[in-house]
Amino acid sequence: MDCVFCKIVKKEMKSDKVYEDEDLIGIRDINPQAPIHILIIPKKHFEKLHQIEEIHLLGKMIKIAYEIAEKEGILNSGYRIVINTNRDAGQSVDHVHIHLLGGRIMRWPPG
Ligand code: AMP
Ligand code: ZN
Repeated sequence: MDCVFCKIVKKEMKSDKVYEDEDLIGIRDINPQAPIHILIIPKKHFEKLHQIEEIHLLGKMIKIAYEIAEKEGILNSGYRIVINTNRDAGQSVDHVHIHLLGGRIMRWPPG
């Protein structure tokens, strides 16, 4: 399958990895939108959030996101997690991932 995140998971492509366990990896986004911009990616390929039936995996992704937020020093200053799904939300990689963003003031509503 021609999926950039599967290739990163399989180490066929380089990444700046900040976290790894049996289920997930955390990598720095190649085109960061904030001083801290990390992607939490399940090793198993799911295209869309609503296709993940393993609810525990979603909980784990969120837990790892805030653990990384703490390690990166943005837990108390503020962090945002985002999951873009489908066209209107701007999903550009069809392999589910959480964006963890922080290190600057973020606006609401998001663009
Ligand atoms: P989304 O648009 O929500 O699907 O997010 C995809 C994200 O993946 C974007 O923020 C891209 O900058 C990022 N991205 C794409 N290719 C890579 C890569 N090889 N390494 C790290 N981040 C990537
Ligand atoms: Zn994939």
